[in-house]
Amino acid sequence: MKREITCAKCTERWRAMVGKYPGEEIKLVEGSTLKDFICDGCAVPLPKGTTVHAMSLYTERTPYFPWEDDFIAREPAFRGLRPLLKERAKDNDAKE
Ligand SMILES: [Zn+2]
Repeated sequence: MKREITCAKCTERWRAMVGKYPGEEIKLVEGSTLKDFICDGCAVPLPKGTTVHAMSLYTERTPYFPWEDDFIAREPAFRGLRPLLKERAKDNDAKE
């Protein structure tokens, strides 16, 4: 499984790849960074608290496992950030 923390621009790049290659699955999980990162796609700085996506690229032979919670907070509403997003529960916004 390939894993990346991605900025909005790189997230869109991955989103465009969803379903493109049979046997390859892409999972995008939105959250806010728990510490300072740089985007794994383009190296733009992503300071702590930035809304990003955790991208997993996996196949049957290299299956998905959860890893996102070590890097991002999925429920910004509970941390006092962006409370309007609470209703959306976007922890799996690109499952298919
Ligand atoms: Zn990027």
